Amino acid sequence: MEYNKIVENIIDSVRPLQGQGKQADYIPALANVNPDQMGICIETIGGAAYTYEKADTRFSIQSISKVFALAMAFSIEGEGLWERMGREPSGTAFNSLVQLEIEQGKPRNPFINAGAIVMTDILCERLKDPEGFFLQFVRNMSGSNTINYNHAVAESEREQGYLNAAIINLLKYHGNIKGDIERVLRFYFLMCSVEMSCRELAHAFLPFADHTKPFDYTDVYLTRSQVKRINAIMQTCGFYDEAGDFSYLVGLPGKSGVGGGIAAVFPSLYSVAVWSPRLNAKGNSVIGMKMLELLTTATQQSIF
Ligand code: GLU
Repeated sequence: MEYNKIVENIIDSVRPLQGQGKQADYIPALANVNPDQMGICIETIGGAAYTYEKADTRFSIQSISKVFALAMAFSIEGEGLWERMGREPSGTAFNSLVQLEIEQGKPRNPFINAGAIVMTDILCERLKDPEGFFLQFVRNMSGSNTINYNHAVAESEREQGYLNAAIINLLKYHGNIKGDIERVLRFYFLMCSVEMSCRELAHAFLPFADHTKPFDYTDVYLTRSQVKRINAIMQTCGFYDEAGDFSYLVGLPGKSGVGGGIAAVFPSLYSVAVWSPRLNAKGNSVIGMKMLELLTTATQQSIF
């Protein structure tokens, strides 16, 4: 596949979209990022990486971290995880309280904030040093030992994190949080603050695309069937309440974050990470979504 030519054309096509959308500013530290940047990296199963524009610039991965948390929580809890959360698309905003109240503290899926906060609680309960373990896991998956938390971003989110505080209180009320809520929230914000580049994210997501090798990183072991299921959840729940549109336009399992990043996989072919901070009304990167839509259209490759 001529990825070089295809991606060069894609970048030319999305340039006119620069300026559309708005970067997340409800986490004050994210408002300082220059919004008019973009990056893309495709890594094939064979290990070839194609990088363009700011593919080596690190950004806040935010909710993309929930995929790593799911890999860890699923490997620890197995099917028992689904006693604490569902695996249905939510059809509501990622930080909605309404659905959680109606469904009595059982989050719809692991990728809305409520689900991710429950996974964070599980990791706090089951691991001696969840912060250290999580970081080591992400470093091993991406092959980059300098990846780190951004404490200033985590702190900035904590200071304004009233909605997530409300979510965890509701979860606690319904008995779905075992630990101390301040402690769990602190880890949740830290997890979201991890900074990675498109190149590092694409590499970290490759094991979700490559079913030929065992998934075994830092004591996080997943069976092939579990990897397949994580991909299924990315497909149905990875894009807030725009998951249906993303499936329609792009057609790949993936996960977005309000830092403007999206990581996605084409099983048995490649992983891809894109980044551009300006978001649409649903919280997904405008240019990032477009780049992926054009990629799957131009390559004429489809998982369906
Ligand atoms: N830390 C963000 C929050 O909890 C993550 C949101 C996201 O990227 O979807 O609001």
